[in-house]
Amino acid sequence: MKGKKLLVIGGVAAGAKTAAKARREDDSLEITMLSNEDVISYAGCGLPYYIGGIIEEEEALKIVKAESFEKTRRIKVELNTEAVSIDPAAKSVSAVDLVTGEKKKYGYDTLVIATGALPLKLPVPGSDLENIYNLRTIKDSNRIKEKAKETAVKKGRALVVGSGFIGIETAENLLDMGIETIVVEMKDQILPGFDYDIALSLQYYMEQKGLKILTEEAVTGFSPLDGGRISVSFKNHEAVDVDFVVSAAGVRANTAIASDCGIETGIAGAIKVDDNFETNIKDVFAVGDCAEMKHRITGKTCWVPLGSTANKMGRIMAENRFGGAKEKFPGVLATMIIKVFDMTAGKTGLTERDAAAEGYDFDTVIVPGNDSAGYYPGFREIVTKLIYERKNGRILGGQVFGWGVVDKPVDILVTAISFNATIFDLAHLDLAYAPPFSNAMASTIASSNTAKNRMSQRVKTIHPFELYSRWEKNELTVLDVRTDEEVEEWSIERSLHIENTYLPDRLGELDKDRKYAIVCKRGIRAYNAYRLLEAAGFRDLAVLAGGTVFSRPLIEMLKAGKPCGSKKL
Ligand SMILES: Cc1cc2nc3c(=O)[nH]c(=O)nc-3n(C[C@H](O)[C@H](O)[C@H](O)COP(=O)(O)OP(=O)(O)OC[C@H]3O[C@@H](n4cnc5c(N)ncnc54)[C@H](O)[C@@H]3O)c2cc1C
Repeated sequence: MKGKKLLVIGGVAAGAKTAAKARREDDSLEITMLSNEDVISYAGCGLPYYIGGIIEEEEALKIVKAESFEKTRRIKVELNTEAVSIDPAAKSVSAVDLVTGEKKKYGYDTLVIATGALPLKLPVPGSDLENIYNLRTIKDSNRIKEKAKETAVKKGRALVVGSGFIGIETAENLLDMGIETIVVEMKDQILPGFDYDIALSLQYYMEQKGLKILTEEAVTGFSPLDGGRISVSFKNHEAVDVDFVVSAAGVRANTAIASDCGIETGIAGAIKVDDNFETNIKDVFAVGDCAEMKHRITGKTCWVPLGSTANKMGRIMAENRFGGAKEKFPGVLATMIIKVFDMTAGKTGLTERDAAAEGYDFDTVIVPGNDSAGYYPGFREIVTKLIYERKNGRILGGQVFGWGVVDKPVDILVTAISFNATIFDLAHLDLAYAPPFSNAMASTIASSNTAKNRMSQRVKTIHPFELYSRWEKNELTVLDVRTDEEVEEWSIERSLHIENTYLPDRLGELDKDRKYAIVCKRGIRAYNAYRLLEAAGFRDLAVLAGGTVFSRPLIEMLKAGKPCGSKKL
């Protein structure tokens, strides 16, 4: 493609990456990038933290400026210029200058559509009211920031609609500013990328921090009140007055310009592309949030709009087209990570729900651990959930959350899944270990060993949900093998408490015909107790999955009647 014209529509993650990489691949290209905003290449991912003041300066969000793009990379950047139609036959794009209204036309030899995604509009009356905001651009974040500052001063209230990562990050930042913040979610759980049990656990901690969360609830309308305040009505809950609303109820691919000229779209309206990101129209490509992608495990087409993926797509597209490379984008694992106050939660691959929907015969383990050696000052707890195929132990997905380092185990799981590793492979990884950085048995290794034990029937585990339901019906006895101090701090009512050290001498107190769910903090003492009881002839045993570390918040939520939706604010 030497010496030809590359035209890119959109200049944030995918567009800017495509243009920059194309320039590195081919010095003779004539590159033009159109943006309907007055900035390019900014950190959309940083917007919630800019609103909350963690990122102090707006300028810090602007990764590369238009002037620098023009000067150092010789890429012509047309700001405030909106592409309005594509003429594939004439190989041209019509655009309009949003400041002057001037109509423009740009020719191309290669066209890259990188128009991203748009926030979904709430389909309820009043959603156009002043003080209802979306969060996608720097301008959006400035509007919200201004309003949030004003609301914080008068100790006001905000509503965030939607509990995906944008909704939760925004809600956390608003709460940190001193604003009473309510999150409303239509589904039965927050953070839909995670499994229900992990999400419920995270919800517990967020509520402890003061966030108010309504699940299985829908906004039905907004009505204006004096002073710009808004009355929000809900399907089930009584109406609430708020100072402003952030609508984070999802996004859709921004592809009207593509479909108008005959480019095929698929999932969520995203553009269908081949392995080189070429659309059904020759020489027209699509990258980033506006394009479909492939799921690395299922091989199916999917749409997971993320900045990390948008950058990779842009790079590979340019490398193949202009550098003669034959890179194949292997697809995505829907990996994501989110800060949740003083915790972190990350996931990759299939959730339990996804695996079931895809028809896999799978099993799961939930294993608490530390991010560094338990004897080294400052270690913090993390919980790992592994989802793996029952027939061969192939890892399908993982979710990790806790107060410690979470990105490392998540990235280990990403790597493992990318290379089709099994729990057996994972258990034998030679991971780096010294006390400040890991456990001798790193959390990922420990969770694989638990999965191996489960697979080989060395141990049966019981999920906290099942334990609670059977405990309520008195179908089992909870045998708590923790210390007196631990039990005093928190325990499941009606538990039988025998500390594991005394268990060998007190076996006579137990009934071999009874089912025992054995409980300790992390499952290790309970596993030892399980083996002891099994050797003594007890048959109906199970270890509480995730120990009290994982189960406590879930059991507290169950006791409060939360799993069916948190109806009370
Ligand atoms: C608040 C927030 C937090 C996020 N956090 C994360 C995160 O932590 N991790 C992560 O991986 N991702 C995150 N994302 C997602 C990430 O920002 C997007 O996936 C990424 O920006 C997609 O890049 P893109 O270039 O495909 O699209 P966009 O960033 O949407 O850029 C598209 C650009 O094209 C412009 N455009 C559209 N139509 C036209 C037209 N017709 N003419 C000219 N210009 C046009 C748009 O205005 C925009 O400037 C977050 C997003 C938001 C909003």
